[in-house]
Amino acid sequence: MADRLMRVRSTKYDGSPHWEFDSWHVRDEGTLLVTVNHAGQALESPRGPWVTPHDTTNHFWTDRWYNVMRRELPDGGGLYGWYCNVTTPPEFSAGLITYADLDLDVIVEPDLTAAVIDEDDFAENSKLMAYPAEVVECARAAVDELLALVRGGRPPFDVQ
Ligand SMILES: [Mg+2]
Repeated sequence: MADRLMRVRSTKYDGSPHWEFDSWHVRDEGTLLVTVNHAGQALESPRGPWVTPHDTTNHFWTDRWYNVMRRELPDGGGLYGWYCNVTTPPEFSAGLITYADLDLDVIVEPDLTAAVIDEDDFAENSKLMAYPAEVVECARAAVDELLALVRGGRPPFDVQ
């Protein structure tokens, strides 16, 4: 693959390490940066590596409080669904994509059924790590925005 290698590095809001992995640049479109990962690739976390079973297309926007990971089964096995992480807006620099994970996730099935998870982590960490009120509001608004995009079947939730 000729695409440029990048590194995705997420922390928790207090700066402690979270997920980190290599990802390959696909395209820039305004505030959107798209990268891909491949099935069989090891993603690192403080709990140890996790080998992803999915080919994944990652969507990062510099002006949004979330990212969207579209997951496909390898070898043309089809759409598995989307994993959406609520985060601080990402920063891009010198091949590095960084952001703070804000616990809340939205899991979207191929039929566009959506579920919000990790409300308990969000409640706990917002106290423990003293999320400012603005951060809590932006995280909540991010979930609403994601659910609206899913309901409308709008990109990147357009099923092909
Ligand atoms: Mg989470």
